[in-house]
Formats: sequence, structure tokens, C-alpha cells
Amino acid sequence: MDCIFCKIINNEVKSSKVYEDEDLICIRDINPQAPVHVLIIPKKHIAKLHELKEEDINLVGKMLKIACQIAEKEGIKDFGYRIVINTNRNAGQSVDHIHFHLLGGRVMLWPPG
Ligand code: 5GP
Ligand code: ZN
Repeated sequence: MDCIFCKIINNEVKSSKVYEDEDLICIRDINPQAPVHVLIIPKKHIAKLHELKEEDINLVGKMLKIACQIAEKEGIKDFGYRIVINTNRNAGQSVDHIHFHLLGGRVMLWPPG
């Protein structure tokens, strides 16, 4: 399958890993939009949020928990941070393998662009 995140998970493409376990990989975004910009990616290929199944509910909870732990480790827990999931092209999704963006280290605007 031609999926850049699956290639990263399979070590076919290099990345800057900040965390890995049997379910997830967390890497620094290649095109960071904030001083801290980490992608939380499940090893299971799920193209979009709408393809989540009942059996994936724990996985998504774990992604959120790990994102919070990374925020703490990266020193942005108290300052503030944002977790984003883009879904479909109009919302900015460019890679069809679900992921959370963990963004922080600068003041964020609302609403997002
Ligand atoms: P999306 O646009 O789907 O919400 O997020 C995809 C993110 O993946 C983008 O922020 C993009 O910069 C990042 N990205 C795309 N290709 C690579 C890559 O090869 N390595 C890393 N580390 N990030 C990537
Ligand atoms: Zn994939």
C-alpha cells in the first residue's frame, strides 16, 4: 500500500521518532507548524476517522493519553497545546492514515484557518 505513514511504521522511510510501542508511533512533523509538532499515528492503517470501528475505541483513547504524555515531556503541558485531527481534503487532511497533530510552544489562534 502506498501510504507514507505505513512506510514510516515499517522503517522504509526515516522519521524523527519521539515514542513507539506495539500500537503507536509518534514522530516529529516534517513541516512543523509550531515549535512542538508531533504526529500520533496508530500502526493500524485506518484511512479516516469515519472508518474507525468499535474495536478501535481503546486505540484512540490510548493515542490521546500518549499525546498528553508527550506534551508533558516536551514541556508544553502548562503553557498549552492543541490536538488536531483533519478529516478530508477540505479540512486539511493530506495523508489518508489517521493521526493526531500535537501542536504547542506558541500562542494559538482561534478559529483555526
Ligand atoms: P494532515 O495534512 O493529513 O492532517 O497531516 C499530515 C502531516 O504529515 C503533515 O503535517 C505533513 O507535514 C506530515 N508529513 C507528510 N509526510 C511526512 C513524512 O514523510 N515525514 C514526517 N515526519 N511527516 C510527514
Ligand atoms: Zn497507512
